Amino acid sequence: MSWNITQYKYKWTLNRLAQGICPDCGGEMDRVGWRCSKCYIELKKNINKRREKLAADGRCIDCGKENDTDNLLCSSCSEEANKRNRSRYQRRKEKGLCVDCKEKLPDDYTHVRCEDCLERANEASRKSERKRRNK
Ligand SMILES: [Zn+2]
Ligand SMILES: [Zn+2]
Ligand SMILES: [Zn+2]
Repeated sequence: MSWNITQYKYKWTLNRLAQGICPDCGGEMDRVGWRCSKCYIELKKNINKRREKLAADGRCIDCGKENDTDNLLCSSCSEEANKRNRSRYQRRKEKGLCVDCKEKLPDDYTHVRCEDCLERANEASRKSERKRRNK
């Protein structure tokens, strides 16, 4: 088997994490994930900055190409995102996890979301319902 650079980097990253070292800055890991909280916040900030700039330019915040919709994502990216969401939804549902936050649901639970997320989803759908009616 030949190793490409992505696989190598992946292994290296896992190795670092196993030692409790942040792969980004080499500092101590203080959270569960792929990088320490400092790097995580930095990463989020950079992603947000990039997205804000793209959105202001009328570009898709995902691929950066000319946006052909009124949303933040272009039509092909939003289709991709929908597909991804659907398969994530299915996977979580099959495992008996809340489809939103991955919390383990009780065995005799009948919803696909935990109570918190259910509440939030209801609230969101009530809002969009109101919006639709006001149009
Ligand atoms: Zn770090
Ligand atoms: Zn796009
Ligand atoms: Zn949840």
